[in-house]
Amino acid sequence: MNNICNVFCVGRNYRLHAEELGNEVPTSPMIFTKPTYAVVEANGKEITLPGDKGDVHYEAELVLHIGKAFQPGIPVEDVVDGIALGIDFTLRDVQSELKKKGHPWLPAKGFRNSAILTAFRPFPGIEACKTTDFSLRRNGVEVQRGNIQDMIFDFAAILQFINEHFGLDTGDIIYTGTPAGVAAVENGDKLALFWGEEKFGECIIALRR
Ligand code: ZN
Repeated sequence: MNNICNVFCVGRNYRLHAEELGNEVPTSPMIFTKPTYAVVEANGKEITLPGDKGDVHYEAELVLHIGKAFQPGIPVEDVVDGIALGIDFTLRDVQSELKKKGHPWLPAKGFRNSAILTAFRPFPGIEACKTTDFSLRRNGVEVQRGNIQDMIFDFAAILQFINEHFGLDTGDIIYTGTPAGVAAVENGDKLALFWGEEKFGECIIALRR
């Protein structure tokens, strides 16, 4: 997990997920960030999460690795050099409180180990991504399935927006949003991330009590 620079995430980028949480579907990309300390590899080992702070929801997401500085108009394939799968862990009870107060999401989204990440593979191109679903299996049972065709904002729109507002360069990674099916993890859950039928990575959850 070296050479990761900024960790950008797209919120509410799948309509059914926005709706399942009772959120409005956004009209422009909703971007937040996580500290790099949040990133941890899904290498089969146990990962400790702050279960003492309320429900911790999994959000399985396709993650892009930026290989080259973004320039307006440049094709996605020239900027993105890798894809991985990840889980954007969210302290949902904490997030609900923060939303009520109008406070930033950081405590709900940026805690240690909140950004699970598999190893990156070479970017297969947008069309190939459209032909392959990604999914999350919990203890062997599929709980989330997504395809980039269902994203509200596509890769090009996300890259363009992040670059325009925050900058985007080599080593940045982007969690591109989660499909429907999020729920709280339980202590001992085995979470496995699949690209089609290929397992990209897995981990075991240890909830702090
Ligand atoms: Zn997310």
